[in-house]
Amino acid sequence: MNILVINCGSSSLKFSVIDTLTGADLARGLFDKLGSDSPKYKMESDKLAEAVKGDLPAKASHKEALNTLAEFVASEDVNVSIDAVGHRVVHGGEAFTSACVMDEAAIKAVEACNSLAPLHNPANLLGIESSKQNFPDLPQVGVFDTAFHQTLQPEAYLYPLPIELYKKHGIRRYGFHGSSHKYVAGEAARILGKPLSETSVITAHLGNGCSAAAIENGVCVDTTMGLTPLEGMVMGTRCGDIDPGIIFHLKRALGMTADDIDVMLNKKSGLLGLSDISNDMRTLREASTEGNEAAKLAVGIFTRRLAKSIASLRATIEDCDALIFTGGIGENDALTRAETMQRLAHLGIEIDPEANKNRGKGNDGIISTKNSSVKAIVIQTNEELMIARETEQIVGSK
Ligand code: ADP
Repeated sequence: MNILVINCGSSSLKFSVIDTLTGADLARGLFDKLGSDSPKYKMESDKLAEAVKGDLPAKASHKEALNTLAEFVASEDVNVSIDAVGHRVVHGGEAFTSACVMDEAAIKAVEACNSLAPLHNPANLLGIESSKQNFPDLPQVGVFDTAFHQTLQPEAYLYPLPIELYKKHGIRRYGFHGSSHKYVAGEAARILGKPLSETSVITAHLGNGCSAAAIENGVCVDTTMGLTPLEGMVMGTRCGDIDPGIIFHLKRALGMTADDIDVMLNKKSGLLGLSDISNDMRTLREASTEGNEAAKLAVGIFTRRLAKSIASLRATIEDCDALIFTGGIGENDALTRAETMQRLAHLGIEIDPEANKNRGKGNDGIISTKNSSVKAIVIQTNEELMIARETEQIVGSK
């Protein structure tokens, strides 16, 4: 089956057409700076020698982007058939425990979660509406970042706050990056040669956003992100866990508004805030090599907190077969893996330095020693393939 996978960010739209039989992507593209004065796009197909690049009119939104991509996939040169559309939806709240067809009831349920993801869910919904207009005969399926974590039990998902905040307002931990955690857990089971239902792992997705999950016998039991993707580990520009008292201090002592604080914690903190250089791990590694102390400290805090998160997740599952590294940093930065694993030897994770150096950049595999009681594995994530597979499952079961 060929699935068009659509991922709408607040000002971007990424797409790919995935053949679920082979896992290959037959076409792909990115629309950037939507809603600005100069929206841009780049689209590629295996049938074209060169990428198609261009500009959309000023203020063009996800709707115009979808019109352009629909024309592209149907054009004479590309002409790729599509059987269904799978949409990444960031927040499904408690309404969605798995992917589902985006009918009127499902759209209403996503709208009800808009306040929990004000930047992402409205963009996701706009993508679904525009896709319905462009592909009226195709099934439209929503695949939720939060769904994989809906197996969390109240002990894991409740905040120690007055209980009516949960009961009346849905304030609880939801978790994100679900498609990535689910995909790499499945791949880990395959590499370990065990059924997923008998595989327990801790997955660390380390990209611009970072989260980790504890997965016991294939079921997610805990994760580091919460009501929003701000909780948990240090990220590119997000702070992760901080004392909530800081927020009141910023408001009372520095006169910052809620919006100022929101922007600071989401966009100006994390690796960027600490280093004052960049949110990008590659840049920080280079700066560290050149002796930049702020970069060294930022990376040191990143790996220390990452190891603490992994160690605390380990306490939530009985057995652990493996620790999985994925995402741009997890897949490519051997130093982050080494520095994290050095702190986790007490959990029975023993690094094989040679294997660690050679893994990454598409070369997945084990980076722990033969004697390591918990394996460590580098696995390239593929959220698009996971979304395509889940879409196929829903469409196939209808
Ligand atoms: P996103 O969350 O936007 O999908 P990615 O998964 O692409 O992000 O991860 C981006 C992060 O991965 C950046 O911090 C980047 O520096 C880091 N990264 C990518 N390649 C490398 C590399 N070769 N070495 C170290 N870090 C890398």
